[in-house]
Amino acid sequence: MHAPPLARRLNGLQSSAIRDLLTITARADIISLAGGLPDPDLIPRDRIRAAADAALVDPSSVQYTETSGWAGLRDVLAVRESKRLGRAIAASEIVVTHGSQQALSLLAQVLLDPGALVIVEDPAYTGALQVFRTAEAQIEAVPLDDDGMSVDALSALLESGVRPTVVHTVSNFHNPGSVSLSTQRRVRLAELADRYGFWVIEDDPYGEIWFHNAPPLPVAAHSDRVIRLSSASKILAPALRTGWLQAPEHVCRAVELIKQGVDLCGSALTQRIAATLLADDDWLESHLGDVRSAYRERSETLSRAVQKEFGDAVASTDVDGGMFCWLDFRDGTDTETLLAAALDEGVAFVPGSAFAVGNDYKNAMRLCFTTSEGSVLEEAVARLACAHGARLRS
Ligand code: PMP
Repeated sequence: MHAPPLARRLNGLQSSAIRDLLTITARADIISLAGGLPDPDLIPRDRIRAAADAALVDPSSVQYTETSGWAGLRDVLAVRESKRLGRAIAASEIVVTHGSQQALSLLAQVLLDPGALVIVEDPAYTGALQVFRTAEAQIEAVPLDDDGMSVDALSALLESGVRPTVVHTVSNFHNPGSVSLSTQRRVRLAELADRYGFWVIEDDPYGEIWFHNAPPLPVAAHSDRVIRLSSASKILAPALRTGWLQAPEHVCRAVELIKQGVDLCGSALTQRIAATLLADDDWLESHLGDVRSAYRERSETLSRAVQKEFGDAVASTDVDGGMFCWLDFRDGTDTETLLAAALDEGVAFVPGSAFAVGNDYKNAMRLCFTTSEGSVLEEAVARLACAHGARLRS
């Protein structure tokens, strides 16, 4: 007997290549530069344990909590967002979500009817593509260059009559491209949103992980058509599943309405833990300092190793923060084919095609440098060079 059919929206939806790759790369003999995970040693487990112990004294820490997030956490986040945006943000302009991934998913339900147009960056964050495809949106892309999303390309599309409902951008230390949106482009993107009346989703889980200078004011500082997403995943722990969105109040109330049907509320316990850690400015600054300097050192080691092994055969983005390095093989190497040889050598990466929307990025790859220390990173790149050399010879 045939099983009854599944919903139409599943037609053509594909499993995330990265999530699938993570199951292979869990093998102990593989050095994985594939997943975008924070270094487990930089996750403050002792602090998390102490905050959990303190929270558990209060029975409400294990109860249902407000759909829009525990008020104590939203108060802490309102203070942080006000500092970041340079204007006062109220707790009622924030909704706490189950990671910023859930914020994307809830926003798709709040903002997009089936067939609505979403413009993303090319290459794009795959988790956003999955959300927009599930929402049955049409997706178009504008290229990414060294200054982030090409706002010129976006402007040309708008002038030609294209009318997006949403433009999605990872404004700081892009995943996968590593670049950041320049100050001038932030201002122009906000102006375009105001002029043409679309929403910008400014997806910013990496903004705190800067190596030399803090990023400029977010796009959200320049227009109230911008919804800003942040997350505790990369700076504290992914397992807290604590992200948040900052948006005009009527958008927050709409998100809350949809969220009631999705999960009733997030975790009162992990939201208390996140609030304790995010409210402790002195500790947080010193913790972020440790994260920044460890990742800066690793990204420098990786760049040096790539330069040594590949020289001019590879172009790589300058990495000034975040967790990723984007390589482009000028010698025409097909990175999907290279991956099989690389896994045999014991190293994993994500081929560029996983992030492709318009271009195919057949010759590109994303490397994550956060979970391996110096000599391991060097060994990973040496293995990659072996796999690359073997492919050239075959
Ligand atoms: N946005 C971007 C650009 C990301 O890279 C990620 C994580 N890989 C997320 C959102 C989602 O992260 P989380 O749900 O853990 O906050």
